Amino acid sequence: MQYVSTRGSAPVLGFEDTMLTGLARDGGLYVPESVPQLSHGEIAALAGLPYEEVAFRIMRPFLGDSFGSDQFRAILARAYDGFGHAALAPVKQIGANQFLLELFHGPTLAFKDFAMQLIGQLFEEALKRRGDRVTIVGATSGDTGSAAIEAFRGLDAVDVFIFFPLGRVSEVQRRQMTTPVEANVHAMALEGDFDDCQAAVKDMFNHFEFRDRVRLAGVNSINWARVLAQVVYYFTSATALGAPHRPVSFCVPTGNFGDIFAGHVARKMGLPIDRLVIATNQNDILHRTLASGAHTKETVRPSISPSMDIQVSSNFERLLFDVYDRDGAAVARQMADLKDQGGFTISQGALERLREGFASGRASEDETSATIREIFETTGEILCPHTAVGVKVAGETADPKVPMITLATAHPAKFPDAVEAAIGIRPALPKRMADLYDRPERLREVPNALPQIEAAIEGSIRA
Ligand SMILES: *Cc1c(COP(=O)(O)O)cnc(C)c1O
Repeated sequence: MQYVSTRGSAPVLGFEDTMLTGLARDGGLYVPESVPQLSHGEIAALAGLPYEEVAFRIMRPFLGDSFGSDQFRAILARAYDGFGHAALAPVKQIGANQFLLELFHGPTLAFKDFAMQLIGQLFEEALKRRGDRVTIVGATSGDTGSAAIEAFRGLDAVDVFIFFPLGRVSEVQRRQMTTPVEANVHAMALEGDFDDCQAAVKDMFNHFEFRDRVRLAGVNSINWARVLAQVVYYFTSATALGAPHRPVSFCVPTGNFGDIFAGHVARKMGLPIDRLVIATNQNDILHRTLASGAHTKETVRPSISPSMDIQVSSNFERLLFDVYDRDGAAVARQMADLKDQGGFTISQGALERLREGFASGRASEDETSATIREIFETTGEILCPHTAVGVKVAGETADPKVPMITLATAHPAKFPDAVEAAIGIRPALPKRMADLYDRPERLREVPNALPQIEAAIEGSIRA
C-alpha cells in the first residue's frame, strides 16, 4: 500500500513512513493511492465482532507490510485497554431512527483517544524497531492535545510538544494537558486562536532544516494513521444498525474535517452510507462552502463547542483531492490561494461531486444550548456541546426511513460550563479521573513567533 500527497509532488511513501512523517514535504496531506474494497459479505461478517477485531479487519489492508498480523493484534489490544466501556464505541438510541455513537469512553473523554491511543503504540513499535526517536509537535483546540499527551507520556522514543490557544480551551482540557508529570510531554500555550497554533506547527514542518534536525513528527488529524483509526467505528456502528443490508446516515460535528473524512473513506471501502452530514457551529466555513462553493476564511469566533472553532479545516484538502479527480496541481493552487488570499472558489464539477456525497448544517450558540436542554428533557441524556451541534443538524437533515447516527464526540464533563448553562446540572467526571482538579499543573507560555517556538522545543528535548 502506497501513499501519495494531495499536492502531487512529495515522495510516495509506505504506511509507516506516512505515519511518522505527518505532513508531506510539498505541504500536502498523504492519502492512499487506492482504497481497498470490502465485499457485501465481508461487511456483513463484521456485525457483532469485538471492536478490536473489526479494527484489525478494516485497517490491516492499509498497513502493507509495516506490521505483522500478530503484532498488529497485540498493538490493538494495548491501545484499547484503557477504555471505560466494554463495547468501546456503544450506540444509543435517542429518538425514532436517531442514534448516538458514543466515542467518549477513552482516557481523555473525547473521540480523539481512538486514534491517538493506537498511534502511540504504532509509533513506539516502529521507532523501537528502527532504533530511532522523534519530536512530536501538535496544535490543539483542546482534545487532540490531551489525547496525544495521554497516549505518548512516558514513551522513550518520543518527546511531545502540544500548542494550544491561551485561554481558549476548557479547564478540563487544559488540566488533562498540564497535569501529566512525565518529562517527555510538554503543554505550551500560544497567544491567538487554534488556526494560529496550527499555522505555527505547519511552519515548523516547512522549515526543513529544523524539521530534520529534531526529527519532527506530527500527530494532528493531518496524520493519515489517525484518520484510518477513525474509519473503524463507522463500520461497527453501521453494522450494529443493519448495514450492509440497509444504508445508514451519519452526522458528524466537524472542525478539522478528520472525523468526517474517515466516514468518506468508510463509504469508499463499500459501507452503504446514505448521507454524510457536516455539522458546524458558528464557525461555519464548511457549511458555507457547500452552500456557495466559495471556501473563504473568516475570523474564528470562540464558541461553547471550542474543539470546532476552526476556519482552516485541514483535512478538507483530502476531500478536495478526490472531488478534483486526484489532480494534485489543482489542489496546490487552491491551497496557495487560501493562504495568500484567504479563500478560493471550487469549480462547478467538483462542487457537484461534493454535494452528491455530503450535506451540511450549522448550529448557533443558542440552538446548541437549546438542543442540550431538549435532549435532556426528552431522553435524560446529557450531551456535550459538540454533540449537541451534531444532533441539532441531524434533526434537520434526517430522512425518516434511514437510521441517522450522530457522533457523540466528547463526554459532557469535559465542557461542564456549557452544559450547566443549558440545563443547570454540572456533569461529573467519571470516577477514574475525579482528582483532575487537584493535580498540580505544568504549563509554559511561548510567544507566537517561529524562532522562539523552535528554541523552546530544542531547549526541552531530552538528549
Ligand atoms: C476534535 C473534535 C471535533 C472535530 O473533529 P474534526 O476531526 O476536527 O472534524 C468535534 N468534537 C470534539 C469533542 C472534538 O474533540
